[in-house]
Amino acid sequence: MTRRTFLKTGLTLGLGITAKALGIMPAQAKESGRMFQVTKTDEEWRQILTPEQFRVLRQEGTERPFANKYDANKDPGTYHCAGCDLPLFSSDSKYDSRTGWPSFWKPISEKAIGTKTDWKLLHPRTEVHCARCGGHLGHVFDDGPPPTGLRYCMNSAALNFVPASAR
Ligand SMILES: [Zn+2]
Repeated sequence: MTRRTFLKTGLTLGLGITAKALGIMPAQAKESGRMFQVTKTDEEWRQILTPEQFRVLRQEGTERPFANKYDANKDPGTYHCAGCDLPLFSSDSKYDSRTGWPSFWKPISEKAIGTKTDWKLLHPRTEVHCARCGGHLGHVFDDGPPPTGLRYCMNSAALNFVPASAR
């Protein structure tokens, strides 16, 4: 816990690059897996997820734009985590970002998701994951519509849509 707090503080202070250079980041990512309410081994996850869901949720993969399940879905309902079924996003905050991925301007609750800085590309991005199982969902950007100005750019493979009529 102390180490994680230290790392978080370091990142907040903009020392992420130093942490990355020291090779601390991957260790932190592994450790963070243990603080979630729902934890499984990779083998257990493989048994309940499709290969595409596993690639996205557990290996931080990104699915192809436009050729995915929920990009164009306009039905009323709730998008749950495909890993642990936690409700994450409502169709009420879904909008067409024209990026080819399902996009939302807010999650159902701030508590439903967690974020961390992703250094995979040259510029840092904010990674978004499920707060309950740690499954990777996508990224959040600040070019979304009002009232939040945020764009939660999600992978369909990380989500299960539950139509409002099914509840
Ligand atoms: Zn989850």
